[in-house]
Amino acid sequence: MTHNTPVNMDAAKPGFNALNVAVYRASTVVFDTTAAFMARRSQLFDGFSYGLYGTPTTRALETTVARIEGGTRAMLLPSGLAAVTHPTLALLTPGDQVLVADCVYGPTREHCAAMLRRLGIRVDFFAPDAADIRPLMDERTRLVILESPGSYSLEIQDIAALCEQAHAGGALVMADNTWGFGCTNLFTHGVDMVSTALSKYAGGHSDVCMGSVTVRDESLFRKLKASFAALGTGVSSDDAYLIQRGISTLDVRLSEHARRGIAVSRWMRQQPGITAVLNPADPSDIGYARFQRFFTRGNGLVSFVPQRQDLPALAAMIDGFAHFRIGASWGGTESLVALADLSAARSVRARAAGAFVVRLHVGLEPFDALIEDLRLGLQRLRNFPVEDSPTPTAIAGLAKS
Ligand SMILES: *Cc1c(COP(=O)(O)O)cnc(C)c1O
Repeated sequence: MTHNTPVNMDAAKPGFNALNVAVYRASTVVFDTTAAFMARRSQLFDGFSYGLYGTPTTRALETTVARIEGGTRAMLLPSGLAAVTHPTLALLTPGDQVLVADCVYGPTREHCAAMLRRLGIRVDFFAPDAADIRPLMDERTRLVILESPGSYSLEIQDIAALCEQAHAGGALVMADNTWGFGCTNLFTHGVDMVSTALSKYAGGHSDVCMGSVTVRDESLFRKLKASFAALGTGVSSDDAYLIQRGISTLDVRLSEHARRGIAVSRWMRQQPGITAVLNPADPSDIGYARFQRFFTRGNGLVSFVPQRQDLPALAAMIDGFAHFRIGASWGGTESLVALADLSAARSVRARAAGAFVVRLHVGLEPFDALIEDLRLGLQRLRNFPVEDSPTPTAIAGLAKS
C-alpha cells in the first residue's frame, strides 16, 4: 500500500488499527431484529439508534470533553450558543426566575432577555464580579447562569459562593466555561452544568462550530439529553472528529497562548493612552486573586480600554493592523481583534471605564511581529487628529461607575 492509497478508516476492520478515532457517518443505524428496533429508544443514553442521537465518533468526543471539564457525562451541540440556550429550554418553565451574570456572551444575553422573557420566565442580571446573589433570589429562582471571566470585560465571579447560595435556594448553576476550557474543573466549585463553546480553543483552528454541556449528575444528564433529542439537535461526526483532533494539541497551544497573553498585557500596561488592561491571569489584574482560586492558567485573550473612545481613531488603529485580523470567535492559531461597545451590552455595571473595549486574541504568529503590530496600532490611535473626531459616544451608565 502506498502512502496515498485510499484506506477504509473503520478501526474495527481486522488487521487495521488506526491511531485516531474513526469517522462514522450515519443517519440510519440498522438493527438485527424487530424487537431491537422497537426498543431503540432505550439506546438514547449509551447506545446507538439514529445518527442524530450519537455515533461512536461523537460518543468518543463526549468522553474526552467530560474528562477535560471534570464531569461524568457530556453532550455535544451544534454551537457554543446552543450549549447555553438548550439547557434553559430543557429546565425552565413559565413563572420560573433565572439569574444571569451581566457579562455573559452577547447572544446568551439576547436569548435570555428576548426568548426566555417571551416564554414567561423572569430574567434578572447580576454584577459581573458578584459574590452575593441572595438579594435577587426568591422561591421562583430555578437557574443561575455564570460566565467567568465575562465576555470582553473578563471579570471573575465568586463561583463557589454563588453556587452555594443558588443551591441553598434550590436553584441549579450553569456556567459558560468557554474561557476556562482546559484551565479549571468548575464542578469542584459547585457548578452543576458546564457549557462550553468547543469552537474556540478545543477546535483551535477557526474551522468548526460546536458546543458541549457537561454534568456530573446522571438524572440531570438524562433530562437534558432527552430534551436535546426532542429539540432535534445533534452534531456531525466529521465536525466531532475535527474537535477531537484539535483537543490533541489543546494543552500545548493553551500554555503558549497564555504565556503570550500575559506578555502582551504586561507590555500593554507600559503604553500611554490606555485606561485599563484586562487579563485576569496577569498578576496586576484586579481579578487575579479570584483567577488563582478558580483557574490553573489563562489564555490568549487580552482586552483593553483605550483612553480615546472616538470611533474613527479606534478604526484607524484596528484597520491598520497587519497581523490582528478583525473577527470574533477566538481560539484559533491566528491573532484577532474585536471592538465592542459595552454600554449597550451591560445593565448592572461595567468595570471598564469606557464604552469601547478592544479585545485581542494573541495568536501563534512570530511574537515580536505581534508586539510591533500593536505598537504601531497604538501610535495610530494616539496620533489620529482629534478635530476630525465626532463627539465621543455617550457612555450612559458607565461613566458613573
Ligand atoms: C464564542 C462563545 C460562545 C458561542 O460559541 P459558538 O460556537 O460560536 O456559538 C458562547 N459563549 C462564549 C463565552 C463564547 O466566547
